[in-house]
Amino acid sequence: METEIVYAEDGEANEAIIKATRLLEAGEVVALPTETVYGLGANALDADAVAKIFAAKDRPSFDPLIIHLGRREQIHEYCDISPELDEVVQKLIQEFWPGPLTMVLPKKDIIPDIVTSGLPTVAVRMSAHPIMQEICKGLGKPIAAPSANKFGRISPTSAGAVLKELDGKIPLIVDGGACNAGLESTIIRVEVGETKPQLHLLRAGPVVKEDLQKIGKVIRPKKLTERARKALLEKQGGRGEQSPEAPGMLESHYAPSTPLYLFDKPGDFIPEEGKSYALLSYRGQEKDGYMELYDWDVVEELSPGKGKLGEASVRLFHVLRMLDECGVDAIIAEPVAETGLGVAINDRLRRASQR
Ligand code: AMP
Ligand code: MG
Repeated sequence: METEIVYAEDGEANEAIIKATRLLEAGEVVALPTETVYGLGANALDADAVAKIFAAKDRPSFDPLIIHLGRREQIHEYCDISPELDEVVQKLIQEFWPGPLTMVLPKKDIIPDIVTSGLPTVAVRMSAHPIMQEICKGLGKPIAAPSANKFGRISPTSAGAVLKELDGKIPLIVDGGACNAGLESTIIRVEVGETKPQLHLLRAGPVVKEDLQKIGKVIRPKKLTERARKALLEKQGGRGEQSPEAPGMLESHYAPSTPLYLFDKPGDFIPEEGKSYALLSYRGQEKDGYMELYDWDVVEELSPGKGKLGEASVRLFHVLRMLDECGVDAIIAEPVAETGLGVAINDRLRRASQR
């Protein structure tokens, strides 16, 4: 299959939107821009179309998808929300939609099981990207859209990155420019709670804990060890409610093909003779002199000099991809500050790293 890229940046949005909508109506998959990362979309109500997402990505069937809405009110068509829960949900919608916040809510039967990996809940969000919004509205149905990369790999934040991941596997990429958040959406499971709404943080992302605390109590689910997760998955045959808190939140994810090692102090890293290394630094300033310690073959900075977390999150996947392509034996990375957006960035770095 030939993969076509249609540019939607310079007033050509209509052609791209019409093409994408036609393909989605015909049960095809299309790569679409969002403010977080590029998604691989299909009509969420068409189980056969959704199956094509799993096939193109090599995504295991136990990893459920997020559905995207064009209008806020649609949430009641696809989610089974009690009046008490709706009070909380509406506050979250008011504050964060359209935007990078995904809510996990009880699902209605109209959502096929393949979308939710058999779970009784569905993950739902409304993207702030104008092109994604137009397409969702035009289709009039929810679009299931995980990141447009091969399973476990680095998420794409540009149309070119999607092409590298899925060339020949999908008919169309809508190019809407670089993603301006650069990290996947924050995911919360929403509960009414006894005194205060309970927001279970399943994935850290651009909507940070401090923002969510305005609406309710933010609860971090207990982490399963990799071994416990594997045992659980095996027991359940790799499907269904394999982890009540965060299905699909695999410890290894977002990974470059080149091994990446995360060091609190990159100066502690001991290089091997004859090997080449790239340094992924946060702000590029000399901490313990590590920038000078080795003859790094490549150095990339997430937020050159300034240490701005917003800049670091926009650049993270792009820089990881560049380092992956530069032919070194390993990437040595340092964490960013563990506050605000830094929590999500460090989460991605940890999952990208070898343990
Ligand atoms: P993505 O790969 O960015 O589409 O993210 C999808 C992720 O959302 C999955 O890997 C899960 O971690 C999470 N998710 C989706 N649906 C559910 C659900 N029903 N319950 C809990 N987490 C979910
Ligand atoms: Mg993904």
